[in-house]
Amino acid sequence: MVVPGVGAEVVWDDEGQRVTFEGGHMRAATREFVHLDRILDAQDAAGVDVVVLCPWINLAGRQCDRQNEVLASYVGDRVAALGTVDCDRPEQLEELMRDGRLSGVEIAAAPGGHYLGHERFEGFWSVAEETGSFVFIHPSSHGFAQPALQDYYLWNTLGNPTETAFTAAHMVVSGVLERHPDLVVTLAHGGGALPWLRGRLRRAYEVQPAARARLDEPPDVSLRRFYYDTVTHDVDVLRGVLDFAGADHVLCGSDYPFDMGSESPADIVRALGLEPREEERVLGENALELLGRKDRKRGVIDVDHEALRRSIELAWESRRKGNHPFGAVLADAHGRIVLEAENTAETEQDVCGHAELNLIRLASGRYSPAFLEQCTLYASAEPCVMCCGAIYAGSVRNVVYALSAREFARAKGNSRKALALKIPSAETFSHGQDAVTVSGPHLEEEALAPHEGYW
Ligand SMILES: [Zn+2]
Repeated sequence: MVVPGVGAEVVWDDEGQRVTFEGGHMRAATREFVHLDRILDAQDAAGVDVVVLCPWINLAGRQCDRQNEVLASYVGDRVAALGTVDCDRPEQLEELMRDGRLSGVEIAAAPGGHYLGHERFEGFWSVAEETGSFVFIHPSSHGFAQPALQDYYLWNTLGNPTETAFTAAHMVVSGVLERHPDLVVTLAHGGGALPWLRGRLRRAYEVQPAARARLDEPPDVSLRRFYYDTVTHDVDVLRGVLDFAGADHVLCGSDYPFDMGSESPADIVRALGLEPREEERVLGENALELLGRKDRKRGVIDVDHEALRRSIELAWESRRKGNHPFGAVLADAHGRIVLEAENTAETEQDVCGHAELNLIRLASGRYSPAFLEQCTLYASAEPCVMCCGAIYAGSVRNVVYALSAREFARAKGNSRKALALKIPSAETFSHGQDAVTVSGPHLEEEALAPHEGYW
């Protein structure tokens, strides 16, 4: 929306809504752009019950305090809002998140002409990750001011999605998403051209040292860390984004109030014919979770620690018995521990005797899939590919782990005793039809202790 008095003037005339900005006129915002009551009337008509307001991208970074104060004053049951900050001043974001009313910020694809993988933004990304900020990236360069894109509305249809691809790919290859795995970054317009360039990014990573100079993980893993909105205007294109990113990484977007938006944004999601659970996620659950992320995260971590510490105790117990130092527990929907398991690889002479696999074997004999879907598996270390498969087959949809696979690999050095397929658990689960929530690492130091001197 446009907050009055920060550089844009909005009037309605015979031809509709006109936005005057930097000496030019813009008529692409065809629906109410300023007044909240009329914006909400439009949401009623569109069948939208909760809306996320954000600043008009051309006003990003201007008079931030004023814009943020107005946007924050609108936040309520039906309204969440993103603010605006100067990306070169991460302390602004810290302050905005400390205030607690806004859920995060909208930023341009290239603030001050710098793409978002640039080192100058490292502080911004650190703060965004620490504070659980919701960051929405929207293009703003009007087709890079390329003359060829100024005709035929191409600056929008082609320029906007290309600009998003530029900055998002820049973030991926410069390792921003790998260094800050808890970032919540949503890309406008279904990620623009980005999802369709993943094969080239992958190929370059495989054959060109320059392409992996600052990126350890395969680019697909970083690409799946982004969240994508649904504003693609093509059901097959949207299905492609969903198949790639997973239903828990796609959020229903409207592009309101622009002419390139959708009058009824839920329609394209319903046209996908998703499983009811996935459809709910895309239509709102994902957004609600991510926008209220700070509180949710704090709540979960309190519960996690007790169960996680139990899984670490079991890792010690396992080691005392002569097995590999891993443990796992299963907690029900109320957080009560209902099952425990240790590793049995040595005593049973069973290479498949991992703690999580042993736990799932016990659980599937005892509980229904419906019960297990509500449970959370806590593991002393990040589950391997085999165990992820077992967890998925066992209908458990929430996983919390202590020690990351990366730290574990560092601790064990080159020991052949601990060979593993190096695939992050979140990456494995992202290929499933059902969404699996993965949280970790937590309590890494405590979780590392049973491994010291073992491998
Ligand atoms: Zn395993």
